[in-house]
Amino acid sequence: MEANIRVAVAGAKGRMGSEVVKMLQQDPSLEFVVGIDSHLTGIDVGEVLGGKPIGVPMVNSLEEALIAFKPDVVVDFTTPSQVYQNMRLCLQHGVRPVVGTTGLTSEEIAEINQICVDHELGAIVAPNFAIGAILLMKFSSMAAKYMPHVEIIELHHDQKLDAPSGTAIKTAEMIEAARGNIRQGHPDEQEILPGARGADYVGFRIHSVRLPGMVAHQEVLFGAIGQTLSIRHDSINRESFMPGVQMAIKAVVSLQHLVYGLEHLID
Ligand code: NAP
Repeated sequence: MEANIRVAVAGAKGRMGSEVVKMLQQDPSLEFVVGIDSHLTGIDVGEVLGGKPIGVPMVNSLEEALIAFKPDVVVDFTTPSQVYQNMRLCLQHGVRPVVGTTGLTSEEIAEINQICVDHELGAIVAPNFAIGAILLMKFSSMAAKYMPHVEIIELHHDQKLDAPSGTAIKTAEMIEAARGNIRQGHPDEQEILPGARGADYVGFRIHSVRLPGMVAHQEVLFGAIGQTLSIRHDSINRESFMPGVQMAIKAVVSLQHLVYGLEHLID
């Protein structure tokens, strides 16, 4: 029988965190030991989420949770301003983080990787845990080699704090690796309204749409002479991310370095 993995959830009351709590309760090999939320302490997580008590407390300090509940893994779905400190704290306590929170800079990711290597600890940062989104990124990087003129449009709910999305940035990095730095469009192009052409990433554009009703969507459009190619992924609900989170929790316990992107865990 596989040993249980003790899992804490930072941001357990949030939209993603509460979905992780549900997923953990359905997997007998994962033991949900504590929820962390910045404003709540001592209350049962089940009650916080509007249901019956589940015998797992919510605490308001990650450090307290790491010391008192000794999780093997912390799943983090908090906020872009908090995630870097949370990852460092987990690693300082010998606990492996699985991170879905977006907003980490490339410098922070490099620093976290160094800490992981120094302490022989695993960590996973995945800007998108939906398998379909990973495939979209892989297909986009394949296409960019042959159709280097590209724009990314990402669409999310209007409560998202960061723009562009972590998925868009990761897709852009993979496209850059395939096609390099090419300035697209007319050299004399002018924006009549600032921002009209979106964010510039090594010569191509990323556009962020924020609307109620959206969950997480992305379209990558390629243009070449006489043809276009569009690749689109839609997360219709937050359950779409859970098989990826589950896979990452089980993978991180045997890692000794940082994995950035779920694509490194699938063939
Ligand atoms: P959300 O609903 O606002 O949830 C964030 C939760 O974190 C809130 O309940 C918040 O509590 C809590 N929190 C804030 N600071 C904290 C701290 N220091 N310690 C513990 N908890 C803290 O946001 P969401 O929609 O779930 O998204 C969370 C993050 O996941 C975002 O960065 C989003 O872009 C990302 N995301 C990633 C994926 C992926 O596949 N990787 C998919 C969807 C979303 P209070 O409100 O009480 O402060």
